[in-house]
Amino acid sequence: MLPVIATLGSHSALQILKGARDEGLRNLVIAAGGKDTLYRRYGFVDEVIAIPRYADFESLEDDLVTRGAVMVPHGSFVAYLGEEVNQRMRVGYYGNRAVLRWEGDRDMQRRWLENAGVPVPAEYAAPADVAEWPVLLKTHGAAGGAGYFLAPNRGALERRIEALDGAPHTIQQYVVGVTLYVHYFYSVIHGRLEILSMDRRYETNADGLGRLPLAIQGTLDPKPSYVVVGNAPLVLRESMLETAYEMGERVIAASRELIDARGLWGPFCLETVITPDRRFHVIEISCRIVAGTNLFVDGSPYAALFFDEPMSTGRRIAREVREAAEGGRMGEVVDAA
Ligand code: AMP
Ligand code: AMP
Repeated sequence: MLPVIATLGSHSALQILKGARDEGLRNLVIAAGGKDTLYRRYGFVDEVIAIPRYADFESLEDDLVTRGAVMVPHGSFVAYLGEEVNQRMRVGYYGNRAVLRWEGDRDMQRRWLENAGVPVPAEYAAPADVAEWPVLLKTHGAAGGAGYFLAPNRGALERRIEALDGAPHTIQQYVVGVTLYVHYFYSVIHGRLEILSMDRRYETNADGLGRLPLAIQGTLDPKPSYVVVGNAPLVLRESMLETAYEMGERVIAASRELIDARGLWGPFCLETVITPDRRFHVIEISCRIVAGTNLFVDGSPYAALFFDEPMSTGRRIAREVREAAEGGRMGEVVDAA
């Protein structure tokens, strides 16, 4: 029996569900807080389960386990269910849950990226150590760039840190360059790393400020913020593509040393900023499908190099699960509790 692909109704659920349908797998979506109406609009969704709140998710687990569901996590899983619920979920989980802890803790994530030998922005222990301004002050747990503070000088940084009242934070070099988010997929079944697509984010108001003349910016004293509101496609200079692959491979190799022997698999994203010397600076890793892949429900210029049919990240996940099921290898791609 082929597994049922299940996910939570938000973020990239439509892409995941459509991908399951395209691969001939049944799908279901769990929608909280009245979001079920959206998912009932689409004919490719086999089943919509409405629950009042995300906190009610665990009451569905027995039923999902019985039905052999495979949960495909996305950006809402940790944001809305919390890391603990993700860790103790009894339903089959696509991906390695041991990665969650390494991704969720800024210091551990930094150690992982440093061990992988990918270039990361400088970090400073205290305002007095800063070698180059401006810097970004990132509070831990800030989601999607909300609450970051761009500090132009030591005085402003010290005042802001004082206002944090001891809350954990990171002082990071602000890299001036082009932001580029690379969407990878590591296939356990084929033992191969694929780059499926890339995007850049539109972040407000950081992306709006550049449209104002400098003289007016000066009168407003603008405070840049980085709340993501949308995504746009991008392709990379081909001469830099091999470097992007090598960064992805090093991150996977490091995960096998630091996290466990199985390491990272499935979809992940390196968030990078590229400087004029054509160097990548990795600012973050996301270890699941990212919302920027929603641009490519119908495939991308990169996916087309591997597949002769439209291949989204959501569909790629469904294909891996289907091939694993057909080959009796589900234990290699699904983390069971
Ligand atoms: P939502 O589905 O909009 O409620 O978002 C769920 C989580 O995913 C939040 O933590 C968002 O910050 C993140 N998220 C949603 N959309 C995007 C996007 N386009 N790019 C990056 N992160 C996103
Ligand atoms: P993050 O929470 O790390 O995804 O960051 C949110 C946004 O802040 C990113 O998408 C970038 O636009 C910006 N950002 C984060 N870190 C840096 C950095 N070190 N240099 C420049 N921009 C950054």
